[in-house]
Amino acid sequence: MDAIDRVLMNSRLHHLGMASRITEPSLKLVILTCMDARIDVSALLGLRPGDANVLRNVGGRATQDVLHAAALSQAVLGTREVMVIHHTECAAGRFSQPELAARIAAASGHPFHGDLGTFSDPIGALKEDVALLRSYTSLPHRDKIRGFMYDLAAERLTEVPAD
Ligand SMILES: [Zn+2]
Repeated sequence: MDAIDRVLMNSRLHHLGMASRITEPSLKLVILTCMDARIDVSALLGLRPGDANVLRNVGGRATQDVLHAAALSQAVLGTREVMVIHHTECAAGRFSQPELAARIAAASGHPFHGDLGTFSDPIGALKEDVALLRSYTSLPHRDKIRGFMYDLAAERLTEVPAD
């Protein structure tokens, strides 16, 4: 498609309210990353509305929810690739599960027993999440699942090869 046709389509989609008309991500891409507010996924990767399914949680971990969402995304919304992005200075790596659970319990006044996906080895955690996704048999497409570390200070993405 010519660039002019592409931007014209972008313009029409913009005016029509793209989100309400196209549900299948145009890049056929799922992005899993941390909820950390410093990560502007769209700006970092040059994404526009409609480009990708973005899944976020504490640490960008491959939890059951994430695995289920990725399976739905591939089977129903036609995505084919998964990009896992963890980052430096992540709270899930700086605090332990007991520390975070204690803070939630203190703030809420109720005991907290949920798993927050904390880790002590950032690279190991990223590799673990990529491996979990790659071994999740409900994902129809597991050949393009890649892990990246985002260095907040350097504003740089670096791929972390799987073992
Ligand atoms: Zn984080």
